[in-house]
Formats: sequence, C-alpha cells, structure tokens
Amino acid sequence: MIQQVIETALTFLYPAHCKVCEKTIGLESIPYLCGYCWDSLEFVTRPWCEICGIQSNEEICSECATTPPRYGKLRTIAFYGTILQKIIHLYKFEKKRSLAKYLSDLMIRHLPNDCNFDEYDYILPIPIHKNRLRERGFNQSILISKGISKEIGIDICTDALVRSKNTSPQSSLARDARQSNIVGAFEIKNKKLIEGKRILIFDDVYTTGATVNEAVNMLWNEDPLEIDVLTLARTVNL
Ligand SMILES: [Zn+2]
Ligand SMILES: [Zn+2]
Repeated sequence: MIQQVIETALTFLYPAHCKVCEKTIGLESIPYLCGYCWDSLEFVTRPWCEICGIQSNEEICSECATTPPRYGKLRTIAFYGTILQKIIHLYKFEKKRSLAKYLSDLMIRHLPNDCNFDEYDYILPIPIHKNRLRERGFNQSILISKGISKEIGIDICTDALVRSKNTSPQSSLARDARQSNIVGAFEIKNKKLIEGKRILIFDDVYTTGATVNEAVNMLWNEDPLEIDVLTLARTVNL
C-alpha cells in the first residue's frame, strides 16, 4: 500500500515516457509503452503460404514448393517493424523482463486460427547458451512460453535441447554468415522427451530461419511425430 502511494507520487513528479514515441504515459497499465504504440503493431494476416507463413497469394509459396522446410508449418504473430523491434530490444537487451507477460498475452490474443495449442505435447522454446543466459538473466523465449503455458495449460519442455555452442548473436551477422554460425549450436539433451512427440518450437524473432531450421534438423534425429514453429516476430518479406 505504502509502496503504491510512493510509486504514484513518483509518477506524478517524474512522469514516465513511452520508450517508443516519447509520449508521457503516466500510469498506463503496460510498462514502458503508450497504448497507441502497443496498438500500432503490424500483425501478420492472410494470404500466407500454408507452410512457411510468408505473405503469398499461392497456397504454397515458390520457395516451399521447390525446397520445402523440414517443419510442418510456421506461424508468426507480427512483423518485426519499428515498434515491435523497439519493444523486443527493451525486453531482451535492456532486460525489461516484465514485458514478457504482455508479449505472451499479445500472442494468445492474435494466434492464427490454424494454430491450435491442443495439437502439441509441448512448446519447446529455443534455448540460449548458458553464458548468454548469465549475461541477460533470462531466456526471452522461455518467459514468453511460460506466459502462454500459464494461460493455456500447454506444457513447456526446456530439457530436450540445449545450446551447446556460444555463437555470435545472429542479429550481428549477414545472412550467409548466420547459417554457418548456427550449425552445430544445439545438442540433444534428452532423447526420450522427443521421440513420438508433437512439438511446437517457439522463438521470439524469425529472420533468415537459420536458427529455427538448425533446431528442427537436430530434433528430427530423435523421431518426433511432428514439428511446427511459432514465432512472435518475423522480418518483413524480403
Ligand atoms: Zn508510444
Ligand atoms: Zn512458403
């Protein structure tokens, strides 16, 4: 109670500003962001490729028609445009972990109707290396997955796959370098958790697909039944 009074007084004295557009936000319920920015995210809408989810007028895009990916389907909630990029930056690099809950709520609200959590045994958040974990203090994809799990009741599996190689951040590399950087980055930790399972991989940002595809390749070695992918953000079609 006292703490709340102090926080309210502080907000009056030092009004908070939206970290994206600088507008004064005062006591908004979503930390760091004004409602306008939060509502301005660009959500991914149909038509999309039924496999990779990229914007496409064809049911299967030409890329998937020639070289189909090894996952069943990939779905994304929103484009990695200016605002979402800033939000994810705040969350991951400025370590505003309280945003995890808002991001998982956002995902649940905007989940495509052909993506059903009942289809899967668990969500598998892409693991990060233990050094990165120590530095950041949390795995951004696990926290968002936990929010989804709490709301929907789907399990999370963090014991099947590990990040054994401490790769350079993918975001710092060009397209070709991302592929070679990530090869061999994952290791299977527990085969029993994978065999015969229907797995939904979750990653926060999808750019070239190198990370997700490497994880998918590793998981197929252990005979799962199905692997699909869900991401919060993806770069706008190139
Ligand atoms: Zn704003
Ligand atoms: Zn496609």
